[in-house]
Amino acid sequence: MPSSVLSPDELGPTICVGEILVEIVATTTGEGFRSPQPLVGPYPSGAPAIFIDQCSRLGGSAAMIGAVGDDDFGRVNLDRLRADGVDVSAVAIDRQFPTGSAFVRYRASGARDFVYNIATSAASRFGWDDKVEALVRRAGHLHVMGTALSMPSAREVIAHAVEIIKARGGTLSVDPNLRKELQLSAPIERQFAELVAKADLLLPSADELERAAGVDGEAAALRRLFELGVGEIVLKRGAAGASWFGRDGSRIDAAAFAVTELDATGAGDCFGGAYVAGRRLGMGPEQALTYASAAGARNVTVRGPMEGAGTRSELDTFIAATPRHV
Ligand code: ATP
Ligand code: MG
Repeated sequence: MPSSVLSPDELGPTICVGEILVEIVATTTGEGFRSPQPLVGPYPSGAPAIFIDQCSRLGGSAAMIGAVGDDDFGRVNLDRLRADGVDVSAVAIDRQFPTGSAFVRYRASGARDFVYNIATSAASRFGWDDKVEALVRRAGHLHVMGTALSMPSAREVIAHAVEIIKARGGTLSVDPNLRKELQLSAPIERQFAELVAKADLLLPSADELERAAGVDGEAAALRRLFELGVGEIVLKRGAAGASWFGRDGSRIDAAAFAVTELDATGAGDCFGGAYVAGRRLGMGPEQALTYASAAGARNVTVRGPMEGAGTRSELDTFIAATPRHV
């Protein structure tokens, strides 16, 4: 069995395509935004951006494709990504539209209310251009977030990139990141299914596993996905931990670290970024799962979706100091 189903880091950066946002977080719990209230932010955000930032912080080579406006919200993101070592040469700066944003407020139950500006912001205004092509031609791995497929620009870039990267020996990971109930248009659904079938690594949350497989039941879904050709699957279960499944029927369970959750946003993205970086840097699934679990858990202890992303040494400290659920 090869040590990793993912291409080695030396082949070229992991790239992620999609929305770059600022997030503004309500500091009190409650229902939505229909009255004035204390807010804190802007924090750099967007699931693909959080993923790539954590990938780079762990030491993986990493690059982002997307767009920001020519404004401070854009600079908040570019400054953070650059500081954390992410190649932003293919992030466009849009002169007409402002940087995308998400306002979030937690309810007492842990549910969240959002006000988004993505589709009509710079976040969706990028596409296949010379800088994107130059980056893709030297990339070693593509990570796809299901949410990004709602943007035509991202769908176009992903469709081109997957062919080019696979042809040069690179690999693909997919985080479905789509609620089971969410109905996509037929062409998007088709592209999603094609990406799943081409994925070397799949990173679903519990109900997304069945959605990606198109069949009910965990065991049946896993079987179906391996039949399609998926290389390995890591199932995320929030505070209940995560499990790795190999094609040969093997399984590794990783208990979650015991932390107090302050802001759950970004856990899955940090988990994925750390896992992909770890595997591409040569870690086995068990070690990569440990770093991924630590990255997800550490991130929920800090307010702001990307604020808790950890470097390798920060994660080592966290792992040594934090007990795990049994
Ligand atoms: P997202 O809401 O960001 O899309 P997700 O559903 O993709 O999240 P989660 O399962 O919530 O991903 O989180 C990913 C991993 O992060 C979990 O498998 C776990 O290891 C860790 N994690 C998440 N939340 C917690 C928590 N409250 N305590 C400890 N670990 C956590
Ligand atoms: Mg998710």
